[in-house]
Amino acid sequence: MNVLLLFTGGTISMVRDAETGALHPADIQTFKTYVPELFAGDIHVDMIPFEPLLDSSDLNPDNWRQMAQTVQQHYDAYDGFVILHGTDTMAYSASALSFMFDNLCKPVVFTGSQLPVGVLRSDAKENLLTAIEIAAAYDADGKALVPEVTVYMDGELYRGNRTTKRNAEHFSAFNSYNYPALARAGVHITYNRPLIQSIGNTARGLHVYERFDTRVAILKLFPGITEAVVAALLDIPNLHGVVLETFGSGNAPTHEWLYEHLRSAVDRGVVIVNKTQCNTGSVSMGQYAVSINLLKAGVISGYDITTEALLTKMMHVLGEYGDNLEKVKKMLSVSLCGEMTVD
Ligand code: ASP
Repeated sequence: MNVLLLFTGGTISMVRDAETGALHPADIQTFKTYVPELFAGDIHVDMIPFEPLLDSSDLNPDNWRQMAQTVQQHYDAYDGFVILHGTDTMAYSASALSFMFDNLCKPVVFTGSQLPVGVLRSDAKENLLTAIEIAAAYDADGKALVPEVTVYMDGELYRGNRTTKRNAEHFSAFNSYNYPALARAGVHITYNRPLIQSIGNTARGLHVYERFDTRVAILKLFPGITEAVVAALLDIPNLHGVVLETFGSGNAPTHEWLYEHLRSAVDRGVVIVNKTQCNTGSVSMGQYAVSINLLKAGVISGYDITTEALLTKMMHVLGEYGDNLEKVKKMLSVSLCGEMTVD
């Protein structure tokens, strides 16, 4: 089996300078000396590094495009792909790539580490080697076991567009609050196949959607929020989409001014999607009286989607179909690749 390792940077790439003790991104040759096992097993691994390696806080849609294009350029030559990435924005990149790929039939596994590869107790080696094994896992019929974009970390494999970084301290950096793990790695890797996306049409090639519209914003409600804050955000010139972070099952204060600002933005063509501030559970507009105004204003339900998935999905559908508002709204209301559970 052949796996391509795309190396974007992050803590996993770092080694300690012998003289100063400071952590800095390793060059590829140095990195390889820390994980000799990578090149000693049955799986053939090639590496392509970003130049320069980046902290994931510096990544943006151009880098998502670079990752997706690299996968596309090498799609036929490899059985699976592993993307080494900083953990801070990994959930955004994994979500974005899940929307960019159409007819993905091979695994694309994101992983990183909480401790640099050059530190003795590092989690880098386990994460990297298991991610490679998952990327190379095929069944007896020659079909990939996990033909979707995933995040692997500390024994758990999650659907990428369901993940959130939940911990800056523990090795278990990610969680998928609203969808179970696709696989668990202990002594064996156990795949939960009914939960994994079914494979696309292997006779048809991979298509990559590359356009993103970044004229989007996040409005997080809080008790005592003032009209000035809401107006300042919703009145941003040329705003196209808003992630509205609400309380509980999608509730908001009943101020008339809030309704009026939302309604006027929707009437101007701004797409607004309701996402609960709770990690677990779903938006259910209309369940409480305090969400009726949102429905009346034309706000769309984001059900149980993560903020990372909603923001990148909005950028993607606005980028691809921004001239057709009805289509944009329709696509935001349905699950495109398992990112939300619509009831
Ligand atoms: N700041 C780092 C990054 O996201 C953290 C990490 O890799 O865990 O690039």
